[in-house]
Amino acid sequence: MNIILLGPPGAGKGTQARHLVETRGMVQLSTGDMLRAAKESGTEMGRIVADVMARGALVTDEIVIGLIREQLETVKANGFIFDGFPRTLAQADALNDLLAECGETLDAVIELEVNDDVLVTRIVGRAEEARAAGQPVRADDNEESLKIRLMEYYKKTSPLIGYYHARGDLARVDGLADIQAVQGAIARVLDREPIVA
Ligand code: AMP
Repeated sequence: MNIILLGPPGAGKGTQARHLVETRGMVQLSTGDMLRAAKESGTEMGRIVADVMARGALVTDEIVIGLIREQLETVKANGFIFDGFPRTLAQADALNDLLAECGETLDAVIELEVNDDVLVTRIVGRAEEARAAGQPVRADDNEESLKIRLMEYYKKTSPLIGYYHARGDLARVDGLADIQAVQGAIARVLDREPIVA
């Protein structure tokens, strides 16, 4: 089973993806993590994307589609969680093609619904917690970049909600509920009985 976790920055996609990795042995494909790893290891791509990411803007479709293609070609899994990908309609189309090429299907798109005030509090809180614990703070976890990240989300990513809804793949989950409740709601989506005509 392959799923997409959709939602604005700070909605809890990463937290929920990690839980599914632990409990279901699915494989998390986070383009944000891949890009940060490229930045850390100082690759050419990492250098190209560093400024864009710190600003909170989206990197090019070409780069992230390339990263996902590489993973789908090399990693074997009995279920992928796409976390932070796709973020544009062009990426959604590319994902359809890539999945079809490897004989896979997309089984559910789960939207984590939250409101913006909570996102700002969560993300600024995440940065403060990390700072207090002496851990590295994400370069884009500040109010200025967050504003850009939210604008990018509404402009380029939120149209995917309508797109997947029209395809009949969309399930909405209340991302404001506590973490266990969100886990439960996602589990119910993944375990639902297929609709038989
Ligand atoms: P995330 O960890 O998902 O919040 O992603 C962090 C940053 O990486 C984003 O703000 C973008 O700059 C970049 N990024 C991650 N995934 C994508 C994507 N699918 N398309 C474009 N940019 C992305």
